[in-house]
Amino acid sequence: MGLGFRYFIPAGRSPALWGHGLLAPAKRDKMDHATDANSFLVDGVGLWVQRLGSADFVGRPAVFLDRDGVIVDEVHFLSRRGDVRLTPGVGQAIAELNRMSIAVIVVTNQSGIARGHFDWTAFAIAQAEIRDQLADAGGAIDATFACGYHQEGYGVLRFADHPWRKPGFGMLQEARRLLGVDFDRSTVIGDRVTDLEAGRRAGLSNGTIVRTGYGDREQERFAEARERWRKQGFSAGVENSAAQAIQRWAVGQRAS
Ligand SMILES: [Mg+2]
Repeated sequence: MGLGFRYFIPAGRSPALWGHGLLAPAKRDKMDHATDANSFLVDGVGLWVQRLGSADFVGRPAVFLDRDGVIVDEVHFLSRRGDVRLTPGVGQAIAELNRMSIAVIVVTNQSGIARGHFDWTAFAIAQAEIRDQLADAGGAIDATFACGYHQEGYGVLRFADHPWRKPGFGMLQEARRLLGVDFDRSTVIGDRVTDLEAGRRAGLSNGTIVRTGYGDREQERFAEARERWRKQGFSAGVENSAAQAIQRWAVGQRAS
């Protein structure tokens, strides 16, 4: 794959790599289900993977979803349980993907980790809240990939253009390696041009930008990118919300 460093994701349920004291055992005890044996800091520092459930997605399509401004309201460095608000209808839309055996995979840049605004513990707590709220609507995320590196980060988290950080496609590539999903039938949904660019670079054929989060502010950039993408064989659309983007895409899946 040539990403320049080694990944280590343990098989089974061993939380083998909490690394560097970022998630101390004492803290983990207080977090009940916020972190669990299915979450890993892949490199011990800045690459987070959480696999939930045990459904088999080999050869199945995936919907790659950005998190902030897409699944949840953009609140500028989400790190608190109380700040988690799902976008309208997203839980029900994800539940429909679950019923269709389509992998629901979250890919999220988390520069707040690199910048020291919050740590992986706080990230995990927010993740647990998202999971709980989605569950209320019958929806479930199958896997989450997060990149905590940034060029303006502190210490070991300072890393310019990390391959996992969108518009890089390392998170999508890792998702395919771990879950075996079929990129030819997959899509990406985000509120930024960089979300869709990551999908395009990964080799997906289509994506949708939503108007929630930064989406409205991205429309001009999106219009430019869309023309370029069209020539590159990547088709991109606009929907008001993640729920609508999912529903539109799912209709095409059922028809194909
Ligand atoms: Mg976003």
